[in-house]
Amino acid sequence: MLAYRYWGDKVLRLEEIAVPVLGDGGALVKIKACSICGTDVRTYRFGSEKIDKGRVAGHEMVGVIQELAPGLPGDFKAGDVVSMAPAIGCGECRSCKKGHTNMCDHLTTMGFQYDGGFAEYSVFPKKSFLMGNVYKLPQVDDVVPFTLSEPLACVINAQSYVHIEAGEDVVIFGSGIIGCMHAELAQARGARVFIVEPAEERRRQVKGILNDVTFIAGGKEGAAPEILRLTGGKGADVAIIACSVGSAQSDGLQSLAKCGRLSLFGGLPGDGLGYLDSNRIHYYELGVFGVHASTPAQNKTAMELLHSGKIDARKFISKRFLLSEIETAFKEAAAGSILKAVVVMDKGKTGM
Ligand SMILES: [Zn+2]
Ligand SMILES: [Zn+2]
Repeated sequence: MLAYRYWGDKVLRLEEIAVPVLGDGGALVKIKACSICGTDVRTYRFGSEKIDKGRVAGHEMVGVIQELAPGLPGDFKAGDVVSMAPAIGCGECRSCKKGHTNMCDHLTTMGFQYDGGFAEYSVFPKKSFLMGNVYKLPQVDDVVPFTLSEPLACVINAQSYVHIEAGEDVVIFGSGIIGCMHAELAQARGARVFIVEPAEERRRQVKGILNDVTFIAGGKEGAAPEILRLTGGKGADVAIIACSVGSAQSDGLQSLAKCGRLSLFGGLPGDGLGYLDSNRIHYYELGVFGVHASTPAQNKTAMELLHSGKIDARKFISKRFLLSEIETAFKEAAAGSILKAVVVMDKGKTGM
């Protein structure tokens, strides 16, 4: 079968390898689609220390169970169309016991410590069934949009900390797919949404996708003065930093109203020191929250939001590529010209 594997030092290669076997008693899954995550693009551009050498990359996948080891929990059977929360907790540590399996001390992730979804087949490990990471997808013609359950789950996780209420003002820095999904989820909660996006081309692209969002270009003095003006001097109730830019974190903090909440969604390259004004946090009673990955429950919630159409994944998927075209897919994703690229095993009737 074809598989896209990581060999360290920014080397990813499309190779012909053997179909995997059910080593540890999970399920053999025939992959239908796997979307390219920002994390994958980061590995492609800068490499990753966290990925085992020779690993099949990809973690946002959907597929069909081909073969199932006996004795797994849940009523799974061959033929079920499934997806999974790719970050698998140990179930034993303090974080796991509190339900924060994404914060597990011994976290293992598909595409990092297990072979992932950029391949014709993948094995969902036994642990992913035991920990409830695997879930069935609804019976619909096109399950490809459900690859977005995982990134949406991370968005849900971030917003679980900032408690957006109806009528609040939310400012999002960055208009990649994560920023866009944050915007729609905040709107679904009744918030008014602003997006700070310095790139004119991207602003134009996203304006056609999102409704009722006010776009701010930012500029040299940052977006904070404009956000204060647009909110009648109050500031935003919530700022979400959906990009990996330190100055956006500073800007986000300065944009906040009293008792505002800041979500640092995007990690920074390097050490991440020196961007937040602690006196501002102190005197304004601000809350600052981090976020990393997502839990199985959040992945299922995301899947339901996509299924109900509350979040319309289809409009965020810019392009579908065959596995044989994965190198082009990564090239285009890394160039930033498309919002979301999905690798599919066949393009079906639509031909897209
Ligand atoms: Zn992802
Ligand atoms: Zn754990």
